[in-house]
Amino acid sequence: MLGYYGLYDVIVCGGGTSGVCAALASARAGAKTLLIERVGQLGGQMNFSGPPGFSFAWLYNARHERIVGGIAWEIYEMMLKDGHALPEHHQNWRGPYQFNYIDPDWFGMYIYQLLYEAGCELMLHSLVTEVIRDGDTVKGVICEHPGGKSMVLGKVVIDCTGEGEVSVQAGAETDKLPKEQLEPATVAFTCDGVDWDKFMDYFMNHLEEFDFDHLYAPYTNMNEEEVREEIRKNVTCIEDVSEVMGFISLHDKAMKAGEWHNCSGVGFFIMPREGGRIQAHFQHSSQVGNVDCTDVRDITRAEVEARAQDEIAFKFFKKYVPGFENIYLTRLCPEVRIRETRRVMGDYILTAEDVAEARKFEDVIGKSSFPSGPKHVLPSSESLTGTLTNANVARHPKDGGSNDIPYRCLVVKGLENFLVAGKAISTDRPSHNRFLQQTFVTGQAAGCAAAICAKKGITPRQLEENVKELQELLVKQNAILYGTH
Ligand SMILES: Cc1cc2nc3c(=O)[nH]c(=O)nc-3n(C[C@H](O)[C@H](O)[C@H](O)COP(=O)(O)OP(=O)(O)OC[C@H]3O[C@@H](n4cnc5c(N)ncnc54)[C@H](O)[C@@H]3O)c2cc1C
Repeated sequence: MLGYYGLYDVIVCGGGTSGVCAALASARAGAKTLLIERVGQLGGQMNFSGPPGFSFAWLYNARHERIVGGIAWEIYEMMLKDGHALPEHHQNWRGPYQFNYIDPDWFGMYIYQLLYEAGCELMLHSLVTEVIRDGDTVKGVICEHPGGKSMVLGKVVIDCTGEGEVSVQAGAETDKLPKEQLEPATVAFTCDGVDWDKFMDYFMNHLEEFDFDHLYAPYTNMNEEEVREEIRKNVTCIEDVSEVMGFISLHDKAMKAGEWHNCSGVGFFIMPREGGRIQAHFQHSSQVGNVDCTDVRDITRAEVEARAQDEIAFKFFKKYVPGFENIYLTRLCPEVRIRETRRVMGDYILTAEDVAEARKFEDVIGKSSFPSGPKHVLPSSESLTGTLTNANVARHPKDGGSNDIPYRCLVVKGLENFLVAGKAISTDRPSHNRFLQQTFVTGQAAGCAAAICAKKGITPRQLEENVKELQELLVKQNAILYGTH
């Protein structure tokens, strides 16, 4: 039985980081906003299906100019003030690869209050299953949820589902690589009980065991030995390192004993917790390849295989890594985390060339300094870490700058009253905008754009003609659009 739920200025589908930002920005701009999310927890891959290894990162360009402001920065500052984030982490040997670590679970708590204060309505445990269209014009969506089905009408609909689910329902054009080339999927887990002093003693005395070549050297002009020298001089605690990949001889030993799965490299990130506590977070310890997570058979296989790999990884760390003997599991993420599926085609497709040239656009809605190029592959003889962000493929914005993200990447080709934000925005494959700071930036911009369109009675495409008002609103909401390289 289909019920009528209501009419909104802006409907945001999907409550991950892009959806939360879109809803927040739209509601703050005065639009009657509804955020629809499949599960009860907001935050998506930020905290539900996987706390990130680094979050936030790349808020700066290589010249150390901050290029991300707005909601991302507001949340970081708020969490830092409340003791749920670590101070900014800049290390020479990481180049522009800086970290602003936050506790993802506290992020997952705070967002409800922020959305409530902004006046945003929530519809949780609701799956968007259909898009209502009149010709090319999107009019609303149909959701399935406990109790039945509802029709929700909206002046503008934003797809923030990460995989472009609602765009496909709307009939949008999408692009996706063959599944054997898609980045692998992961179930992340977190552990407590590490003896960090013991681990750091091992780390500092076995720097040759770690893979600095693939991790850091590409971001700096230093070679691996120079990176090691910098570490010897500057590192005093695990927070100074934050990301550890390699364990080369332990990996080899475990491989011979059949105690490592070899679907990913060996390593971990950190997760800040209350009172300055640090946990070890494993987000690359399972990697299931040849999976298209828009295919139910594949995603089911990924869930099963990733957990089997995680069990092997947990046992490996406990047995082989000094300081990890007493670890215990504090969290196994409830579902697989998807790195890559579809990109939705928009009025402009951001290219690797745009990134490499640090291109600026008239319709800028935000910036990114993240290099283009695929980030994760299954391990090969070339890369122990399974990380492909290396000098061969990564293209960094020139002169240590950043590229603009144009508004047209959010306006879905061939459809009216419909925007996309987050991981699925319109890019070519190498410049896939899937990193958290990018999803914050495009989410906030989509929310602002939708609110303006609803208020003025124009379509997002008509807004392309005059983006000034959008840019002014974004600047008012503290987004960074100008004044950096
Ligand atoms: C293993 C892994 C590690 C990563 N590590 C990092 C990292 O260290 N740093 C970093 O910056 N980025 C990292 N990323 C990337 C980043 O986490 C994601 O790309 C980003 O969180 C995506 O945000 P999003 O809002 O676009 O989508 P999501 O966070 O995926 O949110 C989409 C939301 O939409 C909901 N949804 C889906 N379909 C529907 C529907 N039909 N109806 C209603 N709701 C729906 C989902 O439940 C979800 O909440 C990592 C990704 C992976 C997979």
